[in-house]
Amino acid sequence: MQRFPELIEKYAGWRCVTCDEPMVPAPVQLEYLESVFDVELPVCPKCKQVIIPEELAMGKMLDVERLLEDK
Ligand SMILES: [Zn+2]
Repeated sequence: MQRFPELIEKYAGWRCVTCDEPMVPAPVQLEYLESVFDVELPVCPKCKQVIIPEELAMGKMLDVERLLEDK
C-alpha cells in the first residue's frame, strides 16, 4: 500500500462536510490508468467519503507510475 504521511498530516484536522466527523486515514482503492492502487487517504468513518488530495491526483500518481515501471 502506498502511504503519503505528509498528506495524512496535512488533512489531519479535516472533518467530513456532511457528517462533521473527523476524517481518519484508511486504505482506499484508486483506479488510475486501468490499474488499481491501494493507498492510504483520509476517509470519513461514517459515510466513507474519501478526500483525494489534488497533490495526489496531479503529482503523486506519477510516482506510482514510476514504481510500476521499475518492477
Ligand atoms: Zn461523512
